Amino acid sequence: MTEAPTAKPWISAIEAYVPGRANAAPGVTLVKLSSNENPLGASPKAIEAMRAAIGKANRYSDGSSHDLREAIAAAHGIEADRIVCGTGSDEILQCLALAYAGPGDEVLFSRRSFMVYPIAAQRAGATPVEAPDTDYTADVDALLAAVSERTKLVYIANPNNPTGTLISGAEMNRLHAGLPPHVLLVIDSAYAEYVDDPEYDDGIALARTYPNVVTTRTFSKIYGLAAERIGWAYGAPDVIDMVNRIRGPFNVTSAGQAGAVAALADPDWLAKCRTDNARNRAALVEAVEALGNKGLGTVPSAANFVLVTFPETGAHTAGAANAYLTERGFLTRWLPNQGLGHALRISIGTDEETQAVIAALRAFLS
Ligand code: PMP
Repeated sequence: MTEAPTAKPWISAIEAYVPGRANAAPGVTLVKLSSNENPLGASPKAIEAMRAAIGKANRYSDGSSHDLREAIAAAHGIEADRIVCGTGSDEILQCLALAYAGPGDEVLFSRRSFMVYPIAAQRAGATPVEAPDTDYTADVDALLAAVSERTKLVYIANPNNPTGTLISGAEMNRLHAGLPPHVLLVIDSAYAEYVDDPEYDDGIALARTYPNVVTTRTFSKIYGLAAERIGWAYGAPDVIDMVNRIRGPFNVTSAGQAGAVAALADPDWLAKCRTDNARNRAALVEAVEALGNKGLGTVPSAANFVLVTFPETGAHTAGAANAYLTERGFLTRWLPNQGLGHALRISIGTDEETQAVIAALRAFLS
């Protein structure tokens, strides 16, 4: 037998990320509510800008995403030279683990948070460590209790995916204050634009002030540009410098950069997306809560999806609902491997999609 190359053991131990499905059975209309995308699409101005940019696809993109960083800086009142753009915020989350953690180190996050965190830790050769959550919400005390001498990085999604819950700005400050200064706190604010809770803080102020805080954002959610893969991070110059050393050299496409710049210049579209999301989120929550007598419930969500809980046993489990909905073209997210075998995460769709999934849930229970 010929010898074959052997991957690093920490790489072969990784379970690949399996995204929400994107297709329905043949002949069934697809209602895709599985990946927390914007059902209204990107701003028409962004689409126009991307069309124009595709004409120049023979040239490499601006590897520093200069104009996009300037536009982000202006929109958020922050410094462009403390921003780095990534191929989605996923790339940046990964770069941070690669830069700050390795074999023998620990990367900490909350139970039932974003699935990419343990994968990012493992790709870096570090050990993922999960702290318990409370009421589907990150538990600051539990996170702090799980910090060890080997902890190098803490990821926290706020609002959290897949539960939709958030912690207040005061709680985030408490988490930061309790961490040793050599631990990097990564505040993943992918869903920040959806939040209307006045207690919320998107992490930018902490990242501006402290050298051990970085916050990540994305154009994949409210800006409706998921397929273009555009994310960014804001933090201390040293942290941004490290990401710049290891990110892909032309990591954001020209169309993506142009689309994102145009999207930032269309606040009316953003406002419409936010209002529509809030309306349909409220409609879905109200409809599910009305099914409480059948054992259904919701977890309070600040984002563009709702975690719907089902009875643990009987005919109306989340697994049965998942099979029923999938057969009818409704793709939602069942995450039995994430301690959520009793729940489905349902992304907020258009008015029609929301009414349709509500009707489907009722039909499933009848
Ligand atoms: N963080 C969180 C909490 C997410 O839910 C997602 C998308 N599922 C991401 C980051 C990554 O998004 P993207 O790479 O598209 O920017």
